[in-house]
Amino acid sequence: MSMFKKMELSGDKSPKIPGGEAEKVKCLIVGSGPAGYTAAIYASRANLVPVLYEGLQPGGQPSITTEIENFPGYPDGVTGTQLMEDIKRQAARFGTDIRSGIATAVDLSSSPYKITIDDSEIIQTDALIIATGATPKYLGLESEKKYMGSGVSACATCDGFFYKNQDVAVVGGGDTAAEESLYLSGICNKVYLIIRKKYMRASRVMQDRVMERENIEVLFEHVTHEIIGENGGVNGVLLKNNKGEIVRKDISGFFVAIGHTPNSGIFKDYLETDEVGYIKTVPGPTKTNVDGVFASGDVMDPHYRQSVTAAATGCMAALDAERYLGTRKF
Ligand code: NDP
Repeated sequence: MSMFKKMELSGDKSPKIPGGEAEKVKCLIVGSGPAGYTAAIYASRANLVPVLYEGLQPGGQPSITTEIENFPGYPDGVTGTQLMEDIKRQAARFGTDIRSGIATAVDLSSSPYKITIDDSEIIQTDALIIATGATPKYLGLESEKKYMGSGVSACATCDGFFYKNQDVAVVGGGDTAAEESLYLSGICNKVYLIIRKKYMRASRVMQDRVMERENIEVLFEHVTHEIIGENGGVNGVLLKNNKGEIVRKDISGFFVAIGHTPNSGIFKDYLETDEVGYIKTVPGPTKTNVDGVFASGDVMDPHYRQSVTAAATGCMAALDAERYLGTRKF
């Protein structure tokens, strides 16, 4: 589910301020992944007194991932949850006002910018740092929708346990699919990894690990035709191979790991995005086409999408916001 749902706005797009004056802050951060919390660390240390709204997925994508081995400073690896708890604690230590709530609409037509939280409350801000991340993509099959949450999942670490000692399938050929397959192979009896091309897109090290794991069977040049089941649960998947033949695999869990969609929906009326929806920033800094609005992390990064690059752009956004606030009168 998207971290941000678009709110229907009436007339001039200005959300109504319920019960008088809206709260006004210097720096508002939306999103609580590595980008959001790193922006918070820098913004609070720079005395911007930031308020951060966590969004629908507190801790962002790392919080639903397993082991992270490539975040600097953790030589033995760290779980995604632990990493995000650590970064959050660091942001809180410098006084970031961390709140739960989802940004449901924005008005970026003039400064101060107005952000609606949970469809009800409005907060005004001089500088806005967007760190709303990205949401998993789905195949778009009817059967995928039908069994969502009862056999179909986009998060192995969240749901893998339900398929302990059973057979499952993962679709996708990138690092996420490789990581999910490896995780599931430690819990499940067998994992089918369904890849539409002749090759995997995942990094070499991840490909090697997948290939070495005995209970992962990689099915190249296979596409998912239908997920099948009965009594409200999944019991198989029909795959089409490169000869056009339909083959059935008996599984009880189907994991989708085919990439992500940037959570930029509510900003689209104001901010330039690419054709996929990634917010465009000035190359180098994190400035968007609206003065005082900065984008960081996976919502603006279609290329790297790593926790460490997200954290880096969060830092950049806070520095850009500090410079912006320091050179203008509000
Ligand atoms: P990617 O975009 O890298 O890969 C998506 C995969 O899904 C591709 O193999 C793609 O196939 C396949 N796919 C897309 N649509 C469909 C479809 N409709 N049917 C079947 N297959 C489909 O996404 P990831 O989420 O894997 O990775 C995103 C980024 O995050 C990458 O940069 C990755 O390196 C990084 N990452 C790093 C990790 C780490 O370092 N620990 C862990 C996870 C992610 P095709 O190749 O044919 O287009």
